[in-house]
Amino acid sequence: MNSTFDIIVVGAGHAGCEAALASARMGAKTLLITQMVDRIAAMSCNPAIGGTAKGHLVKEIDALGGEMAKAIDATGIQFRILNRKKGAAIWSSRAQADMALYSRYMKKTIESTPNLFLRQDSVQQLLVEEVDNKIAVRGVIGGIFGEMRAKKVIMTTGTFLNGLIHIGKHTSPAGRAGDAPSIELADFVRNLGFRVGRLKTGTTPRLDARTINWSILERQDSDEKIIPFSFSTEKIKQELIPCYITHTNAKTHETIRNYLSESPLYSGQIKSSGPRYCPSIEDKVVKFPDRTSHQIFLEPQGYDTCEVYPNGISTSLPLKAQIEFLRTIRGLEEVEVVRSGYAIEYDFIDPTELDATLETKRAANLFLAGQINGTTGYEEAAAQGIIAGINAACSVLQKEALVLSRAEAYIGVLIDDLITKGTAEPYRMFTSRAEHRLYLREDNADSRLTPAGRRIGLVNDADWERYEIRKQQVQEGLQYVRETAIKEEDIRIPLSAPIIPGMKIAQLLKRPELDMEDVNVLPGLPELVRRRIAIELKYEGYISREVHSMKDTETLDKILIHENVPFQTINGLSNEVVQKLKHFQPRTLGQASRISGITPSAVHVLRIWLKNRGNSHSKGV
Ligand SMILES: Cc1cc2nc3c(=O)[nH]c(=O)nc-3n(C[C@H](O)[C@H](O)[C@H](O)COP(=O)(O)OP(=O)(O)OC[C@H]3O[C@@H](n4cnc5c(N)ncnc54)[C@H](O)[C@@H]3O)c2cc1C
Repeated sequence: MNSTFDIIVVGAGHAGCEAALASARMGAKTLLITQMVDRIAAMSCNPAIGGTAKGHLVKEIDALGGEMAKAIDATGIQFRILNRKKGAAIWSSRAQADMALYSRYMKKTIESTPNLFLRQDSVQQLLVEEVDNKIAVRGVIGGIFGEMRAKKVIMTTGTFLNGLIHIGKHTSPAGRAGDAPSIELADFVRNLGFRVGRLKTGTTPRLDARTINWSILERQDSDEKIIPFSFSTEKIKQELIPCYITHTNAKTHETIRNYLSESPLYSGQIKSSGPRYCPSIEDKVVKFPDRTSHQIFLEPQGYDTCEVYPNGISTSLPLKAQIEFLRTIRGLEEVEVVRSGYAIEYDFIDPTELDATLETKRAANLFLAGQINGTTGYEEAAAQGIIAGINAACSVLQKEALVLSRAEAYIGVLIDDLITKGTAEPYRMFTSRAEHRLYLREDNADSRLTPAGRRIGLVNDADWERYEIRKQQVQEGLQYVRETAIKEEDIRIPLSAPIIPGMKIAQLLKRPELDMEDVNVLPGLPELVRRRIAIELKYEGYISREVHSMKDTETLDKILIHENVPFQTINGLSNEVVQKLKHFQPRTLGQASRISGITPSAVHVLRIWLKNRGNSHSKGV
C-alpha cells in the first residue's frame, strides 16, 4: 500500500480542501485524510459563503487559484452584495449554499485532481523525530491505515480537538454534531509542548420548512444583477431560492430569560470564550436588554431538503427551551425542530506558534490552518488552507514561499494578525482590521494576487487568459472614459448639476450620485469590469494616497529579523519589549511593530541595531 507522500493534509474541511488542492495542483504528491469522506467541506453551521470581509477572502482565494469561489458559484441558491449603500471598499459578496451540493462539488473536485489521494481515517499521532534539538514531523499514524510518511504535514482539524458539545446540561464529546472528536491527536500536540487554548462556538437549531408559515414573512431575493464570486464564472445559471425574514419579540426574550439558569453559557458549564461578533441569542437577550427584537434570516439549506437554518439564534439552551422560544416567533408558531442548536468547546493552538508561511516554529515540517489556529468561519479557514498548501508545496518543490503582506491582501492581514497578536476569542475577519481597505477591495483581488498565483503554478491557462483579457478591458475602458465626452442621451438618471459641453465620462462618473449602471457606457463589457472602472475612477485620489502609505508598511516588512537576535543585549529596549520580542519571535520589523506593547521608539532602536549588525541578524535594513 502506498504510504509515502510529499504532503499529508489532516482534515477535509474548508482549510484542508484548499490546502490539499493547492499542493496537488502545484505538483506535490498529496494525501488528504479525513474522518468521514462523505462530509468533505461540510458546512457545520450556516449554509452560506461570504459576507462582510469574508467575501474579500473568497475572492482572494479565487485570485490565487483556489476553489471556494468556484464551488459556491456552482452550488449557490441566493447571491447578494452586502453594504451596497456604503463605500466600495466594503461591498461584500455573500451567497447562500445548497449545503449538500457544495460538499459533493468539493469531493468531486478532490477526487478528480491528479496527484491528490483521499483516505478515510482518524489520525491519532504525528510521526516525529528529534533533529538538532528540534522536533521534525515525518508523517502521521492513522487508526486504520497506520503509519503514513510525508515531507510535510498540514493539520486542519477545525473544531475537533477535544471537541465537547453542550445542549443545556447535557454534554457529549464530538467534533461537531454527528462527528467523533479528535482526542488522541489533541493530547499528542499538547504533549509536543504547543501552547493550547480553549474556545467555543455555537449553532442554531434546524427547522422543518413544512411547519413554517411563510405567507406572513418578508421575502428576500437575490440581487437583480449578480456578479459571481469567481473571476472565472461567466454567469450564475441555476435556479435561485429566496430567504425570509422574521424577528424575535418580547415574549421570545422573556422565555429565554426564564431558562437562563439551564444555559451552559450562564451556568458556568462553558468556561471558554465564544465569537463576540456571532453571539448566541442568550447573549443578545442578556447583553442588550433594551432591544425589543432581533432579526432572524430563515435560510433554506438547499433544493432537496426541508431543513431551514434560522440565522441569528444560535443557542445551547435545552431543546425544550429552544422549541418554546421558537414558537413565540412570527411565522414559527407551529414550527418543528429537525436538529437541536448546540454549543461546542474545542482546543486551538496559539497561532503565535506559527510563522507567516503557517509552518510551526516548534515542529519543522508541520503546518496548521483553519479553526485550529483560533479563527472562525469557512472563509478564514480556507484562506489559511490555501496558504499552508502553497507553502508546504513550495518547501517540497524548493520554490520561494508565498507570504502576503497586509498591504496586498486580507489574507495577509488575517495571517499577520494571528501570528503577531494571537487571539483570545474566535477570530473573524472584518474590513476594519485592514488599514489599507480602500485598496484591498473585492473587485481588484485578481490584479493584486493572480500574477502570484500564476507564478507558483496554481492559476491554470484558461483562468490566466481570462485574467489577461479582463486586465486589458479595464485599461482600455479607463482610457476610453478619460478621453471620451459624455452624451446627454447616455445618461439614465437626472443629474444634481448639468453637464458642461465636452465633459469627459470619467469626470461625470466621479460624481458621488452616479454609478456605472446610470450611464449607457461600455455596454459590451462584463459587469465586473464596468464596476471596477467606476470604482477606480471614483476613488483614484484616495487610492493613490493609500498606495503611498502602503510603502511604509512594506518597507518595514522587508527588514528581516533572524531567530538568534539577542534582544536582551540591545540598549534602549525595555524589559517588557524584550519579553514580547522573545515570546513572539517576529520574523520582520513590520511584524515586530504590530505586536501590542512594542512602541515606535522600540522599533526605531531595533531598526538601528539591525542596520549596524549587518546581515548576521537581518537583511534589507
Ligand atoms: C457548532 C459550530 C458552529 C459554528 N458556527 C460558526 C459561525 O457561526 N460562523 C462561522 O463563520 N463559522 C462557524 N463555525 C465554524 C466553521 O464551521 C469553521 O470555521 C470551519 O468549518 C472551519 O474550517 P476548518 O477547515 O478549520 O475545520 P472543519 O471544517 O471543522 O473541518 C475539520 C475536518 O478535520 C477532520 N478531522 C478532525 N480531526 C481529524 C483527525 N484526527 N483525523 C482525520 N480527520 C480529522 C474532520 O473530520 C473535518 O473534516 C461553526 C462550527 C461549528 C462546529
